[in-house]
Amino acid sequence: MTTRPRGRNFFFAPGPTNIPDRILGAMHRPTIDFFDPSFIELQKFATDGVKRLLKTKQHMLFYAANGHGAWEAGLVNCFSPGERVLVIESGHFSHHWSMMAEELGLEVETLNADWRHGVDLKVLEAHLKADKDKDKAIKGILVVHNETATGLSAPIGDIRKVMDKAKHPALLLADTISSLGSFDFRMDEWGVDIVVGGSQKGLMMVTGLGFTGISAKAMARAEKNTENSTGARKSYFNWAAMRATEPQRFPGTTPVHLFYGLAESVKIIDEEGLDNIFKRHHRLANATRAAIAHWGGGTKSDMRISLAGMTGKVEGIELLCADAARASDSVSAILVPDGHDAQALRKHALERYNLALGGGLGPLAGRVFRIGHLGDLNEPMLLGALATTELAMADRGIPHAAGGVNAAIQALRKG
Ligand code: PLP
Repeated sequence: MTTRPRGRNFFFAPGPTNIPDRILGAMHRPTIDFFDPSFIELQKFATDGVKRLLKTKQHMLFYAANGHGAWEAGLVNCFSPGERVLVIESGHFSHHWSMMAEELGLEVETLNADWRHGVDLKVLEAHLKADKDKDKAIKGILVVHNETATGLSAPIGDIRKVMDKAKHPALLLADTISSLGSFDFRMDEWGVDIVVGGSQKGLMMVTGLGFTGISAKAMARAEKNTENSTGARKSYFNWAAMRATEPQRFPGTTPVHLFYGLAESVKIIDEEGLDNIFKRHHRLANATRAAIAHWGGGTKSDMRISLAGMTGKVEGIELLCADAARASDSVSAILVPDGHDAQALRKHALERYNLALGGGLGPLAGRVFRIGHLGDLNEPMLLGALATTELAMADRGIPHAAGGVNAAIQALRKG
């Protein structure tokens, strides 16, 4: 059996995140009939709470599934095999969503973007303006709000403006799995049609409750697809059946304990206040970025990365995200210099110090490690993780300037 050093496991992967004892406690209870009026009240409370997080007054449906289930729900309800969707490339998760769309029979087009900078809005605009073949027009645009693999966020509100400018009627789908409850998202104001979410990151919950926010336009399309025999096949994820009751009926047994946990998460979020939560995440993210900049001594490499692989040199520790305005407030991906192995650093941090860091995904394997700074997190926890990361880098001989924690402290003192 693997043994770990004593003391609490310091979990700093970008999700699942730390689960507050209050949420664990709320789920530690006897079961209850899911038709019991007190449970139905609680289910409605939790549903309304998540709608407030999404900033929507439209539809909301949950699934006993992880985020992949919510990805699939959006695709099978609104699109039919052979229809075209455009995926905005951002990294591992945009790629995996596009692979799922392909497996479901959709025709997938990718708008290529460098993973360090993200989508160029002018390129998107030109692409949408050129999409003139009415019969084969793009029906959906898929974008990951926070690419957990790279620590780069996408400007969803600006993407909607570009779509409006190009007068493009496609549905806008946004994956908020690692942004919701950590930094701002506005479903109705930004005109997002399908919002994909999961319970295990900003909501601080156990994994297993996927959900979608659904606009009236997307719901109308889903209902048309259900009647239309050429629509994608669906059973568990059939929105038309699920929304027949209020709050929704699950096909089969409602996962009551997940809702008890979610209701507690909503209470915790309400108590802190969404704006305060965003400020806390921004502050902790800034402190992390200050430590990274210090470790690298301001290195700015010309490295570029896409699905095709990496080009350019990395000479020092550096934040992967090269556009400060798009740097994620929930996760930082950190490049290690050429010739050093981020995977070996993670292994050492875990085995020697019980610190769990996130790894590099896809072509970033071994090239980056990730620090998740989201959820139930405060300054002492973050400073502990940064200090231990620095200790592990020193042990492994990864070149860096000592004193990253001090830089983080200075950033925290500023605001
Ligand atoms: N999308 C993003 C941005 C993610 O970060 C993840 C998981 O980390 C997923 C989708 C997939 O979610 P799940 O692992 O819950 O299926």
